[in-house]
Amino acid sequence: MVRRQIEGRGVADPRVLAAMRTVPRHRFVSRALAGDAYKDHPLPIGAGQTISQPYIVALMAEAASVGPDDRVLEVGTGSGYGAAVLAELGASVITVERHRKLADSAAKVLGGLGYDNATVVCGDGSQGHPPGAPYDAVVVTAAAPRLPPPLVDQLADGGRLVIPVGPPSFSQNLTLVRRMGKETTSERFCPVRFVPLVEEC
Ligand code: SAH
Repeated sequence: MVRRQIEGRGVADPRVLAAMRTVPRHRFVSRALAGDAYKDHPLPIGAGQTISQPYIVALMAEAASVGPDDRVLEVGTGSGYGAAVLAELGASVITVERHRKLADSAAKVLGGLGYDNATVVCGDGSQGHPPGAPYDAVVVTAAAPRLPPPLVDQLADGGRLVIPVGPPSFSQNLTLVRRMGKETTSERFCPVRFVPLVEEC
């Protein structure tokens, strides 16, 4: 999976590649789909949601430049796989999921694998999670029609926000926002297709 799908497409950060090699992706999908866990596509995880394609998880982690002592917010826990990759990078991760069933299941899998540095919160992550702010990195795994201001506001100085921006029913642009003091820069780097970020739930 890592050599062909991820390194082969240009993800080069050795720490991200090591994390992708370490996290057991099959543990984050149902037993029936475990045989497909390392294939090059998303998979259903219940509640109409999906675990992202491995390459996209790696690409987002690389873009977020997650360091070992970083405080990281993930919006859209889903299966918990993306949070595990961020936790494997050594960050202290808060991940927010609006579906109670998915949040509970992700917390159980993450706990079972010993990721004590990942905390699952059930709620609306479109407003971020102010109690843990500021964050060195925010990774959003659901599509937003535009940049949610609270997520930019909750970035630390030097912080990075990685988020798919665009209309929910079409493809979106994976966007990297960097905050430097009060200034932000924004760069689109890859077309993607995510489930919608639900606001005001
Ligand atoms: N990172 C996940 C992929 C999740 S798919 C993984 O590795 O499996 C996106 C998730 O975002 C879905 O589970 C969806 O329920 C969740 N979501 C959508 N809008 C949300 C919101 N406003 N707050 C929190 N979670 C949200």
